[in-house]
Amino acid sequence: MPYEQIWQSALGEIEISLSRANFITWFKNTFISSIENGQVIVCVPNAFIKKWLEEKYHKNIQSALENVLKQKVNIIYKVELQKSGGQTVVGEPTKNSTEVSQIENQQKTLNNFEPLKPTISQQKNGNENKFGLNSRYVFENFIVGKNNELAYAACRAVVNNLGKAYNPLFIYGGVGLGKTHLLQAIGNEVSKKTDRILYTTSEKFTNNYIQAVHSGKAKEFKNLYRNVDLFLIDDVQFMGGKDGTQQEFFHTFNELQQGDKQIVLTSDRAPKSLPAIEARLISRFESGMVADVGRPDMETKIAILENKALEKNFPLSQEILNLLAKSVQNNIRELEGILNKIIAVHQIKNIPVTEKSVKEILSDFVANTQTKSMSNKEVIDAVCRFYDISNKDLIGSSRKKELVWPRQIAIYIMREELRTSYPSIGHEMGGRDHTTAMHAYNKISREIKENENEKVKQEIASIKQLFTNS
Ligand code: ADP
Ligand code: MG
Repeated sequence: MPYEQIWQSALGEIEISLSRANFITWFKNTFISSIENGQVIVCVPNAFIKKWLEEKYHKNIQSALENVLKQKVNIIYKVELQKSGGQTVVGEPTKNSTEVSQIENQQKTLNNFEPLKPTISQQKNGNENKFGLNSRYVFENFIVGKNNELAYAACRAVVNNLGKAYNPLFIYGGVGLGKTHLLQAIGNEVSKKTDRILYTTSEKFTNNYIQAVHSGKAKEFKNLYRNVDLFLIDDVQFMGGKDGTQQEFFHTFNELQQGDKQIVLTSDRAPKSLPAIEARLISRFESGMVADVGRPDMETKIAILENKALEKNFPLSQEILNLLAKSVQNNIRELEGILNKIIAVHQIKNIPVTEKSVKEILSDFVANTQTKSMSNKEVIDAVCRFYDISNKDLIGSSRKKELVWPRQIAIYIMREELRTSYPSIGHEMGGRDHTTAMHAYNKISREIKENENEKVKQEIASIKQLFTNS
């Protein structure tokens, strides 16, 4: 059997046990370069992936290869780019060596360019450096847990192999889970070596684009965004429905990607779930690597709190850290909010931190966030905003998939969060029967509780965020 075929069969087996994002991340552009006396050399595109495969996936790879080859194998991982003519295993083809050297030359020339001077105004606030990056958002103070290790590793890989490891890198996950932190950490790290960086949010991109078109500066706009080595764009979900901007973005994207300029994007949901974004953009977003950040577990929450407390010179005991971590369910921003409040109250009153004093503050906090989230109407509004559909469509009778899903989610949230009765939910949802509500609730509930569907969990967390914040 040719190596290519052996590897493909093994990958087929490995793929089953991993999420799609994970699989693409770690196995894209891998191949077998030799098999001799049971020794298999697996080539990977960079050292980061090598380490990761050795540490995390070695067992999967070994057993898959042994199944295919019907013999015991000894695997050696090696960093090597695919030679020209070689088949690519996952995703797009790698560059052949002439292309690689051309790109390297281009990069050398580009590196001699003057640093970019943004011609179009970019807003700044106190914490931001000249790139608009917050200097607090660095890799060093980012706590890695199961919820974010994939995204973290991908970001690190991007920094080490700008434009080469994964392009684009698409990070998604619910509100307050560290996407912006990671995105800016990439920027801060890369800014140590080059000025050719651009960080923006999709909202700023849109505003700047509109402004540029109105003031006849479309060309400057194009030049600004297309002449960088690293383009970071936060919260691309807000580009939904803005067709002119999407078109411009599409061209910018293509030009950067073709020149092997690194693009990193964040979003509150997976590319496929983005509403009102052109299909061709979605397929671009998926063409590199997609990594998600999930909700932190207890351990990670405690580590984050501990670290933040130390940064603020306000160390807390394990009991207190535990108490705080338990009181916040899914969101790291909220966790920080509570910590800040605890610090402030104790410093102002100049009292020692005790379980009692902390519990008092916590009960206020919890009561506040709960009373804010109490109406069915708000759930409906938040669901409509999240999926970008009208109120009328949500409670209407169309059976289109893009409406049925949000409807079921809305029902689930009303039941789960607000304990609304099934008949009342039916009433709120345009006079539906209570059995419909029950059916929808059970369906989503199964997704979450039995199938552990992270995507659904995150969608719901993001929606809840919309109505607790409004
Ligand atoms: P998002 O962009 O996903 O909404 P942010 O990146 O703004 O979330 O994160 C919210 C806050 O939580 C930030 O202050 C960030 O520093 C902090 N944070 C999130 N994840 C981590 C982490 N793993 N380690 C340390 N701080 C974190
Ligand atoms: Mg963010």
